[in-house]
Amino acid sequence: MPQTWMITGANRGIGLALTMELLRRGDHVIAAARDPWGGALAELAGVHVGQLTPLELDVTSDESVAAAKRALAGRPLDVLVNNAGIYGPRDRQSAFDMDFDAWREVFEVNVYAPIRVVQAFLPHVEAGQGRKIATISSRMGSIGANPGNALIYRSSKSAVNMAMVVFGNAVRERAISVMLFHPGWVQTDMGGSGADITPAESANGLIRTIDASGMAETNSFRDYTGEAIAW
Ligand code: NAP
Repeated sequence: MPQTWMITGANRGIGLALTMELLRRGDHVIAAARDPWGGALAELAGVHVGQLTPLELDVTSDESVAAAKRALAGRPLDVLVNNAGIYGPRDRQSAFDMDFDAWREVFEVNVYAPIRVVQAFLPHVEAGQGRKIATISSRMGSIGANPGNALIYRSSKSAVNMAMVVFGNAVRERAISVMLFHPGWVQTDMGGSGADITPAESANGLIRTIDASGMAETNSFRDYTGEAIAW
């Protein structure tokens, strides 16, 4: 039975790889992106007719999320994936030099937006069979790893972990599983060409792990292979 997945940031990187793999195996994908009609998504929509629904969505905008919700009215979702994310400036996010405007912007995308999206689309997830919400966090958000550098990015991923655990506890009694994932170090615009794995490897692992997960895994923080990561 095909499932319906909604992916934010579906137009490139890990989001696009998730979209491609899900379409290949016959699932339906709501491909949410700021520009869902151009580039790779336009090509995929032409090949997988009826399987891909482009959805215009800027995750930082209340208006955009409200319009996307109207566009999806009555459509149940089995799995909702918060994937859209940004890293912030590579040079000015250290203990001694901080770009505060950039820090706010990264929190808008990586922390506030995932909660805005799950609040808006919760009724769609409740109407579906899968009842899963996955957020692509990062191992870089692990406080237990006692990290250095990348203060903006790391703090945003630690914050989204906590935000989603609070959300997960709130929806536990509705039997919705809320999970956090590190996708691996992935060859994307963000990860760079020297990263460990391809977007397809990350997407395949994430899909396999999400498929095999349910309420027993709610409020877990794991990598794309399903291995637990220290908070
Ligand atoms: P990417 O190639 O840079 O793609 C980022 C995606 O997020 C793009 O689709 C981008 O859309 C979208 N996005 C950014 N701001 C948005 C907004 N306001 N509204 C809607 N979409 C927005 O990054 P990636 O490597 O695929 O990363 C995906 C996720 O994995 C992120 O959450 C990232 O933090 C996480 N992650 C990545 C790695 C890695 O090694 N790559 C490791 C750990 C975690 P536009 O094209 O419109 O900008």
